[in-house]
Amino acid sequence: MQASGAQPLRGRHAVITGGGRGMGACIAASLVRRGAAVSLLGRTAATLAATAERLAAEHGARVHTAAADVADEASVATAIAACREALGPVTIMVNNAGIAPSAPFLKSDSALWRRVLDVDLMGAVHASRAVLPDMQAAQWGRVVNIASTAGLTGMAYVTAYCAAKHALIGFTRALAMETARKGITVNAVCPGYTDTDIVGDALANITDKTGRSREEALASLVAHNPQGRLIDPDEVAETVAWLCSDAAVSVTGQSIVLAGGELMP
Ligand code: NAP
Repeated sequence: MQASGAQPLRGRHAVITGGGRGMGACIAASLVRRGAAVSLLGRTAATLAATAERLAAEHGARVHTAAADVADEASVATAIAACREALGPVTIMVNNAGIAPSAPFLKSDSALWRRVLDVDLMGAVHASRAVLPDMQAAQWGRVVNIASTAGLTGMAYVTAYCAAKHALIGFTRALAMETARKGITVNAVCPGYTDTDIVGDALANITDKTGRSREEALASLVAHNPQGRLIDPDEVAETVAWLCSDAAVSVTGQSIVLAGGELMP
């Protein structure tokens, strides 16, 4: 089934959570360009449909959409069963859906903590559990978890997010060990601040709380990156595509940092 040349992912079916917009939509486009069939899973059916329509029109891609909240295990299982029914066994799972609410620790109540852990950590657990049997049957699989630099170092005002992303990296490492002899790789990608709605929301929050201008708020985020810039979501997408390639077969359990030198783990 596996093709080579310009479409190295032909014959593969990738599910991307949060695939309707932001990084997830860029990841979907980059996998489609390499020939994969893709299923976009997210909360908002209209956003998913618009992105699916664009991918199909621009690339003639086979695209399925499934609305589900990744925090809800039963909904994820149902959605992934529908994806499998539409486009075949799932051999690439990109766990990208995430939320990043910011607040000081003493203003981050347990409901916020539970929601962040349920979406950012358990969402990846639920989806991985649903697709792993397909990968085991195919003796080939790629799980890519979109973590963050916040998964490798501490950051103020996002304690729950930091804890969830650290846990996601722990999950990545452990599952990589468990699947190492089964033709499956499991990796994390850890971007720094990236130009998507999450950063737009963070800027709005900073300007609200501090009275700083949007430009000042942006400069404070960009200052984390020694290259002095936001990451482009397409950079993340290209890294995911490489991890999904056969060339990356020996890369497993890794956390690939895309942050202009911000971290050197
Ligand atoms: P975004 O533009 O806000 O997109 C988030 C995506 O996740 C949306 O497609 C959203 O779907 C989906 N989503 C959120 N909660 C969900 C849920 N409960 N169930 C299903 N889907 C859900 O954010 P982004 O920047 O692309 O973030 C993608 C990933 O990158 C996240 O895991 C984030 O933590 C990580 N990351 C982002 C940055 C950054 O600076 N942007 C840096 C490091 C890591 P809806 O359309 O339905 O809301």
